[in-house]
Amino acid sequence: MTAGGPPGDAASSGWVLRSAGACAGVTGSAHLLRTADRTVLVDAGLFQGGDDPAAANAAPWPFDPRGIDAVVLTHGHLDHVGRLPKLVADGFRGPVYATAATFAVAEVVLRDAARIQAEDVARAQRALKRSGRDPRALRPLYRDQDVDAALRLGRAVDLGRTVELGEEVRFTLGRAGHVLGAAWVVLDGPDGRVVASGDLGDDDGALHPPPDPPPVADAVLIESTYGDRRHRDAAATLAEFAAVVSATLARGGNVLIPTFALERTQAVLAALAELQTAGTVPPAPVVLDAPMGARMTDLYRAYPETLRPELAARLASGADPFAPPGLATVVRPEESRRLNDARGVVIVAGAGMMTGGRILNHLAHHLGDAASSLVVVGYQAEGTLGRAIVEGAQRVRIFGKTVEVAAAVHTINGFSAHADEVALDAWLDAADPETVVPVHGEAIARAALAARSTARGRRVVEAPLGVDVPL
Ligand SMILES: [Zn+2]
Repeated sequence: MTAGGPPGDAASSGWVLRSAGACAGVTGSAHLLRTADRTVLVDAGLFQGGDDPAAANAAPWPFDPRGIDAVVLTHGHLDHVGRLPKLVADGFRGPVYATAATFAVAEVVLRDAARIQAEDVARAQRALKRSGRDPRALRPLYRDQDVDAALRLGRAVDLGRTVELGEEVRFTLGRAGHVLGAAWVVLDGPDGRVVASGDLGDDDGALHPPPDPPPVADAVLIESTYGDRRHRDAAATLAEFAAVVSATLARGGNVLIPTFALERTQAVLAALAELQTAGTVPPAPVVLDAPMGARMTDLYRAYPETLRPELAARLASGADPFAPPGLATVVRPEESRRLNDARGVVIVAGAGMMTGGRILNHLAHHLGDAASSLVVVGYQAEGTLGRAIVEGAQRVRIFGKTVEVAAAVHTINGFSAHADEVALDAWLDAADPETVVPVHGEAIARAALAARSTARGRRVVEAPLGVDVPL
């Protein structure tokens, strides 16, 4: 792969890309696309994980935020919207476009991020004070009022409706099927067309229809999270999930399911509702102990137009596809603690990688119980408690105490909200671009997707941070 392509290699679209994140990893998505007289930023995401995400997020932008005409957000995940309040605080004043559902998700995500930053900074300031140093130098990346300012710039756009940004520049959103409200974006300029995929959903995702194919384009920025992997099919995943839940309940254990608030929580609730209604899984109580997960589930009920038709139809008929028969939603901490002595209960709680949240209290009480099960349905990053347990730790530390891992640990991989390599290739073939920019992937995944694109005669370019790349 060469940055910008070899000299003389036609960059025919007329668009120039300058990335500000997710070029060499999966977080911090922010891609500036510039044509003759218009500059558009696609996503303004937060860096998460890595060596020093705080420094990466606080670093100046590789462009002047005041020179951007518009921002388009593909979806509400923090790694796609989490730096928007900073962009506005740094001078951006233009419109921010996204689907209405994405704005609803982004508001929950950004307010939660502002709260966590405030708590982290307060904790670090107390530590500085104790060691006799000045705590005032530490400040959060942004505050709640910065989130308000960013959301005030929002303009909701329906999928398929074209928005004019200038005389010869316009964009259109298409269904990405990744999470509630997710879209890909087509940018048309005077000389050519660029498509940015955002994150793409899987072809047999539980909650959303498959991504719509993009139109033919000169260049495509494509996510490559699973650019080197194939997923199990949905039916096999559901059968495996049903078997684990049923066996655990039959022996009187509890089923603990750590989930992310957006998408995975709703996929797990929908699976449990389907399985319990069909009698495949016994009618045990299901507890959603996740205040943010509950808020997100309300949004899934409020924006049925982005869901699979059968889920939307059930909502329209007054049924709730996200409510297993015995569902109880727990919001107050004291209700959560009442589950410490529970038996035969399914507990769905955050955080997805067991790095914090309500799931920790349930792990502390039930991980030592050989009758119970921990069902892991999401990716566990290196260095997290979830990763340690999945890799077979016999004992873990939770709240400063040692907890034996006696419960059965099951990893069920098929719940992914991302397209696998087969789906990515098919989507890219629909656009049939001359130029491909693999983004949002680890090096191995990006290289695999790049190699397949090169083999199909496409020009593959990298997008190094802050470097102009003609497309
Ligand atoms: Zn995403």
